[in-house]
Amino acid sequence: MAETVTLRQAAPVRWAKVVDQTRCIGCHACSTACKSENQVPIGVHRTYVKYVDVGRFPQARRAFQVTRCNQCSEPPCVFACPTAAMYQRPDGIVDFDKRVCIGCKACIAACPYDAVFINPEDHSAEKCNFCAQRLDVGLEPACVVVCPTEAIVVGDLNDGTSRVSETVGRDTVAVRRPEKETRPKLFYKGAHQATLDPIAARRPPGGIFMWSEQGSGPQQVTSGHPGAPNNAAAAMLAYDVAHRAPWDFRVSLYTWTKGIASGAYLVPALLLLAGVLQPESALWRWAAPVLGGGFLAATVGLLILDLTHPERFHLVLTRPQWRSWLARGGVILSLYGAVLVLHFLGALGGRTGWPQALVWAGLPLAVLCAIYTAWLFAQAKARDLWQSPLLPPQLLVQAAASGAAALLVAAASLEPAATRPLAQITALATLVHLLLVAGEATITHPTAHARLAAREMTHGRYRLYFRTGMALQALGIVAALVLPAGVMMAPLVLAGLLAYEHAFVQAGQAVPLA
Ligand code: SF4
Repeated sequence: MAETVTLRQAAPVRWAKVVDQTRCIGCHACSTACKSENQVPIGVHRTYVKYVDVGRFPQARRAFQVTRCNQCSEPPCVFACPTAAMYQRPDGIVDFDKRVCIGCKACIAACPYDAVFINPEDHSAEKCNFCAQRLDVGLEPACVVVCPTEAIVVGDLNDGTSRVSETVGRDTVAVRRPEKETRPKLFYKGAHQATLDPIAARRPPGGIFMWSEQGSGPQQVTSGHPGAPNNAAAAMLAYDVAHRAPWDFRVSLYTWTKGIASGAYLVPALLLLAGVLQPESALWRWAAPVLGGGFLAATVGLLILDLTHPERFHLVLTRPQWRSWLARGGVILSLYGAVLVLHFLGALGGRTGWPQALVWAGLPLAVLCAIYTAWLFAQAKARDLWQSPLLPPQLLVQAAASGAAALLVAAASLEPAATRPLAQITALATLVHLLLVAGEATITHPTAHARLAAREMTHGRYRLYFRTGMALQALGIVAALVLPAGVMMAPLVLAGLLAYEHAFVQAGQAVPLA
């Protein structure tokens, strides 16, 4: 017996929560108590109660789901955060430190449950943290205390005698989106599937829900399943809160400027190594570092502009959390920028050997600069469309196409002899890009979420950007074939790639997560 007690004391606390939906009456007491305890402003929510009307009259009922952070054992928000502002405590609670949040919204893009938001008053990310401040002094979370039916239970999952352990061990419980492999520690008892699966219930036309103002605008996520819902039972979402896409046009634009920044160096570097360009070439000496550096500066500027705490951007490099691809990307962009500056200084000093020697560092960094976003997007675990293994090669050909197109414009005045090979590279890379996108748009997607996002891109809200982007790229190829200099293709290809990027980035965020 003494040994059992010793063992139990030695096991660390692992906080978990059970929401018993068979007891929940949808009174919103938990939502309001949470707002009061944690001073959550109007319009954003650490927790709320979703209503879904299930069945058809007279066989109908209202089902509830208390929606909040799932306190994942493998929290994607923590892995994506570049400054460890989102972190996991030893007792399993996923907490946050607002003092070091830069407002990059990577945690929002990563969370498969739409549990994180930016507080409009202090501009930092926050979410349900189990009322850690209360648990630490021996009090239960505010929602637990206030619930009139004791539907919410918090306890130690490692303590076999706790109510949470008993319920999880004996009763039929479910977690949201287990396929995301986040191992949530929020368990639902008796929850209807139409409440747990965000695409199982139909959404009311126009996003009009009872008692809730949904707002509008391109960042508002209201649709996402233009076809039949993922559920044969009749189910209609009756109450929900606003869901917003975290990354707007600045992120679409950043992928485009970064592609040009990479390709403007990558293409002439390869032409130099192939002997097509000479070390004295003006394109190599001047256009590569100036175009590459200029668009790299624009890329970094857009990234900083997208932060809700732009003044803290330096924390990405001074307080990095190395699992984050935003932190890794920050290092890649910095090293690549340093190579471009050295290249430019070498050209300024009239040295041809210096930039030529730098190519062995610049080439891999240009490739990394082009493709690291594939891993950054993959870390946005919430967004299935972005989990594509085709993304690294797609980003690389985008960089080649856009970089060669930008150089083509420069070559028209700097080095007319180079326009032909650059036009051919632009056309070839654009053709490969179109084929990859055609594959992405027509292939069977592995999840309903990815399929719905792809449909939003090709046939839904972003179809105009997608179709315009594809058409402009195709026109660019035609222009290269029929016009002798081929320079006219450059604006067509560049505009087409920008329109496509916007469709891809925004459609990826168009499917509801909660
Ligand atoms: Fe909570 Fe979402 Fe982070 Fe999981 S990923 S711990 S649900 S905020």
